[in-house]
Amino acid sequence: MKVSENLEVIQSQIAEACKKANRSNEEVKIIAVTKYVSAERTQEAIEAGVVNLGENRDEGLLEKIGQIKDKPIWHFIGTLQTRKVKNIIDHVTYIHSLDRLSLAKEINKRAASKVNCLIQVNASGEESKHGLEPEDVLDFVSELKQYSNILVSGLMTMAPNTEDEQVIRDCFKTMKNLQGEIQSLKLDYAPCNELSMGMSNDFQIAVEEGSTMVRIGTALVGNESEVQ
Ligand SMILES: *Cc1c(COP(=O)(O)O)cnc(C)c1O
Repeated sequence: MKVSENLEVIQSQIAEACKKANRSNEEVKIIAVTKYVSAERTQEAIEAGVVNLGENRDEGLLEKIGQIKDKPIWHFIGTLQTRKVKNIIDHVTYIHSLDRLSLAKEINKRAASKVNCLIQVNASGEESKHGLEPEDVLDFVSELKQYSNILVSGLMTMAPNTEDEQVIRDCFKTMKNLQGEIQSLKLDYAPCNELSMGMSNDFQIAVEEGSTMVRIGTALVGNESEVQ
């Protein structure tokens, strides 16, 4: 499938979810997750009109940046090792995986100016998932005050692997509530306007529950085996 065709389908599904939830489409950004696909396929996504791209490894990110002629907005969405911060910091506009103070300290040190960071939250409680426990997030936010190059732009989560829609929905609701708690503190360094949640299998539920950034790989650009 062409990326442009997939994009059209996804946009209409987002529109439908927005309508259900009484939200405006403009509140939802589509991030094309290109980690599975080639630079050519990534270029195709840009030509189809995608502006925001996501990668989860520094190698993948730098390879794409080297091969793509346009300048999209890059989102780093994967677990970030502290020693790799210096490789990516000048290339990304958003980091979605802030999950510990040692990482915040390194981002703060390496960044030339403020970086949009999203705090990764393990809202499902699954052992295998990265991120802070929801009950630890407010304390974490207050600790971030000391790092002048960190802007807490929002929160990010990955929903549990389950067929149970209610469990997925509850996870997204937890995130929305947490966002509200942070916003009510009215901290200059933590506007927390973004909720990065929803992937190929659950983005419509995420949009119904308040997502502002959906991270879509398979359903939008495919994965390498499907693209061939
Ligand atoms: C791979 C990945 C995605 C995209 O997953 P799909 O199911 O292919 O849409 C989204 N978010 C993160 C953090 C990922 O690693």
